[in-house]
Amino acid sequence: MPAPNEIYQYSVINTLAQGICDDGVPVTQLLTKGDHGLGTLAKMDGEVTIVDGQAYQNTSSGGARTLEPCDVTPFLMTTHFRPTTSVTLPTLSDETLLDVIAGLCPGSANSFLAIRIEGVFPQIKYRVAGPQCHPHETMAEVVERQRVGLFENQRGVVFAFFAPGFTHASSVVGLHLHFLSADRKVGGHILQFDGVDVSLEVAVVRKYTVQLPETEEFSSEVVAEPR
Ligand SMILES: [Zn+2]
Repeated sequence: MPAPNEIYQYSVINTLAQGICDDGVPVTQLLTKGDHGLGTLAKMDGEVTIVDGQAYQNTSSGGARTLEPCDVTPFLMTTHFRPTTSVTLPTLSDETLLDVIAGLCPGSANSFLAIRIEGVFPQIKYRVAGPQCHPHETMAEVVERQRVGLFENQRGVVFAFFAPGFTHASSVVGLHLHFLSADRKVGGHILQFDGVDVSLEVAVVRKYTVQLPETEEFSSEVVAEPR
């Protein structure tokens, strides 16, 4: 089992960019690797959010469904999240988040970050994309059909990873944020958020492990460098 605040990642993001995402491993199997995480399901079918050891799929309606052992992920990042820095803030947004963290965790610009925010969110603009229309449809094509929605005045949890720029072939560079409501009924991949009366918890991650797939599709196609 990975130690707290290490990231365990299954596969590399460039497989999705290329549309290699038919197969993978059950998300429930990866719950031993972390209790918080982000990813997608096979064929890029929506978004996966793991919070407090429970895994959910965010569906195109903005709903959240608890994942079953048959739900397979082709890409997932997870960590046993144990915050090392915590603060309460009257307001916080996607635009101010990294500046706030830079003040709280100096010297972390080249590290991964695991971030959890709890509070009330007057506005969250979210998207849900997928599934693929045909095998090998690329991530850019799938995201072109994304559905964008708005959650208003929701209480809940934002979980996010920040990945440094030099990981661009393997990881989701910059901030990658997902929302899950307090009643665990709605959620999605965040495009913008505004929070009030939030608690912000952060862990700086300096160990990052990537498990490459053993699937036939991964073995049979060369994953290209990012364009
Ligand atoms: Zn996402």
